[in-house]
Amino acid sequence: MRIMVTGGAGFIGSALIRHLLDHTDHQVLNLDKLTYAGNLESLLSVADSPRYQFLQADIADSETVAAALAQFQPDAVMHLAAESHVDRSIDGPAAFIQTNIVGTYALLESTRAYWAQLDEQRKQRFRFHHISTDEVYGDLHGVDDLFTETTPYAPSSPYSASKAASDHLVRAWQRTYGLPVLLSNCSNNYGPFHFPEKLIPLVILNALDGKPLPVYGNGQQVRDWLYVEDHARALLKVVSEGVVGETYNIGGHNEQKNIDVVRSICALLDELAPRRDAGAGAGGYEILITYVKDRPGHDLRYAIDASKVERELGWKPQETFASGLRKTVRWYLDNLDWCRRVQDGSYQRERLGAL
Ligand code: NAD
Repeated sequence: MRIMVTGGAGFIGSALIRHLLDHTDHQVLNLDKLTYAGNLESLLSVADSPRYQFLQADIADSETVAAALAQFQPDAVMHLAAESHVDRSIDGPAAFIQTNIVGTYALLESTRAYWAQLDEQRKQRFRFHHISTDEVYGDLHGVDDLFTETTPYAPSSPYSASKAASDHLVRAWQRTYGLPVLLSNCSNNYGPFHFPEKLIPLVILNALDGKPLPVYGNGQQVRDWLYVEDHARALLKVVSEGVVGETYNIGGHNEQKNIDVVRSICALLDELAPRRDAGAGAGGYEILITYVKDRPGHDLRYAIDASKVERELGWKPQETFASGLRKTVRWYLDNLDWCRRVQDGSYQRERLGAL
């Protein structure tokens, strides 16, 4: 297949592209605007592949996207480009409305125009795969409740509301125009190359610097964690074998309270990189845990029923939370250069210099 991936310089997009180039023969065009979250250094291992191309572009720039589609001639578009950080959506929702809703609309229209002029056989084979989140479902209150593909949408934050809107647009483009779409809604991802503003990398890096480890509210919020490479494998299954018009929920069966995630990271660091900072005499990393004012509208619990993708597409996560978290902590310890270059902004400055 020839696959155009939007947002391929981000956390999940880069894992997907590494997976596609390492484990398939597919050709990939990575179309990414390179916002603060886009980091081409996450793709260094595959950047020289003859099957990989990069184009810096905004999904809302219809002219450039149309030209890219016409030239690359994809068999599938996998749409991951988004503003993705809930806290940023609370501080400044405009960028979320622009990229996640207006941008998705523009991309759907550019894709529809491209798809409409394909010959009948390629038209049938073409797929538009929209990558979304379990946060569109709001939160769960019953201990045993799980999000299924038919759970009603009830988003809580500007981020999840904008993703919910984009999901509706994608479904409407299938119902109204016949565009062959697929959707997948996934739980929280973690793993290598995760931007250090997100919980797991933030805690690892703050701990190594002897800084406070911030936990929102009482830390009892439950998230269902999926190792990012398991997500990449699921996305490949969905785009290659999924049934047009269907939605697949993807999750790791790894429900964890936020406070327990932070404690597990502390325990791994105590084992793999014991404290050497000024306060080291006071005890292990757990002592750095600091409770901070809860996020407004903070959802209490998310948990995914992933039985459909398991049953129909034969996908299962390979990592448990314990094995995935250990790999993740090790990766951060071995790749502190990547982290420091994100933290000090040099990944962006050098990129601008190169353009
Ligand atoms: P990310 O923030 O790490 O990456 C987003 C990428 O999109 C960046 O490379 C950025 O430069 C690019 N981008 C942003 N606006 C763009 C625009 N207008 N045009 C082109 N490119 C643009 O995000 P992520 O964590 O990799 O998430 C990828 C997708 O998966 C998102 O759609 C997100 O909603 C969804 N998702 C994320 C998670 C998670 O836990 N991270 C879970 C489920 C679903």
